[in-house]
Amino acid sequence: MINKWSYSRLKTYESCPQKAKYKIIDKLPDPAGPAAARGTKYHKILEEYVGGVLPALPPDLAPNPPPLPAYLDKLNALREKKPKLEYQIAFTREWKPTDFFADNAWARAVYDVIYPNKYEVQVIDYKTGRPSPDHLQQLELYAATALILHPEAELAMCADWYLDNGPHSTLEFVLARNGLQDVLTRWTARVQVMETDTVFPARPGRHCSYCAFAKKKGGPCQFG
Ligand code: SF4
Repeated sequence: MINKWSYSRLKTYESCPQKAKYKIIDKLPDPAGPAAARGTKYHKILEEYVGGVLPALPPDLAPNPPPLPAYLDKLNALREKKPKLEYQIAFTREWKPTDFFADNAWARAVYDVIYPNKYEVQVIDYKTGRPSPDHLQQLELYAATALILHPEAELAMCADWYLDNGPHSTLEFVLARNGLQDVLTRWTARVQVMETDTVFPARPGRHCSYCAFAKKKGGPCQFG
């Protein structure tokens, strides 16, 4: 049974329930690939620059680095806001904030950047790799949980920054407080499908080629 979740867990489940079982319930190793490691590297650089740990963006000699210097103005503006960075928080089943590691943590979230701005709360998520329509759903969840964390805010303004494409490439989502309850109800229902699953059927598809549990990689699955 999967009864604690994050957006990434839910996406894994929805792409293939059996993969979620292998990874989350059976805890089989699922090593991060090079794309994930690359994303982690640039998240860390931006966290340290915006947080003032790094006085300047470090020179990057890696092949195909994202054009981070083009973000300097935006990053410097973020520095001024003194946002929370890589902020970890969890929510109970009643969507109340709780500690990330608390026993009653049900939904977990990590915000790359979050800060209040008058009657708004702003969330920024750094993305490496290509834009995807799925990202809009993730922004909706960020927006809803950000409004819970900031009861004074009337609006949540959330954006993905696609680092490989430059500062013009963003995906934005706005949620007003009067839409919050509907969003939470929808996400609760969506998660319930995963929570009540006892079969975890395989859902083979093109995504099998990235799956560590695929047959051709020596994994336990009969597919892939
Ligand atoms: S190989 Fe495909 S069907 Fe098998 S667990 Fe992985 S994603 Fe699911």
